Amino acid sequence: MEYRIGQGYDVHALAEGLPMFLGGVEIESPTGFVAHSDGDVAIHALCDAILGALALGDIGHHFPDTSEEFSGIDSKILLERVMKLIEEDHWHINNVDITIALQAPKIGKYVQQMREVLADIMGVAADRVSVKATTTERLGFVGRREGCEVWAIAMLER
Ligand code: MG
Repeated sequence: MEYRIGQGYDVHALAEGLPMFLGGVEIESPTGFVAHSDGDVAIHALCDAILGALALGDIGHHFPDTSEEFSGIDSKILLERVMKLIEEDHWHINNVDITIALQAPKIGKYVQQMREVLADIMGVAADRVSVKATTTERLGFVGRREGCEVWAIAMLER
């Protein structure tokens, strides 16, 4: 078995009155993400981790935010496309680990659903998909509720 590991990172700003999607799940929240796509910062970091494992560039390269095609796009579609890309070369997900830093709202109750949604798209069992949520103890831009920051790691195998 051959293995590759990749990491991804993304940030989106928060604004009042926008929908909030995280890990493929809609979160009940008075604020949501400013973005060209649906702003699912967790899926974006995950896509970058998977692409990074194979040195395939980043999602900005594959899905440019200047393209009308990706305007308001459901980020689950971006993850599906990334999966197609790696599966063409016979790679599969071994496991992924995602850390979401968000001050508010609390997202703990959505974590299990995120794991299931992401696992389904990636074709793995949910026990290979870790989603962790943290605040930053009110420090920095996350703590001031100005944005959300996500780190992801993906291990691929073939
Ligand atoms: Mg993004």
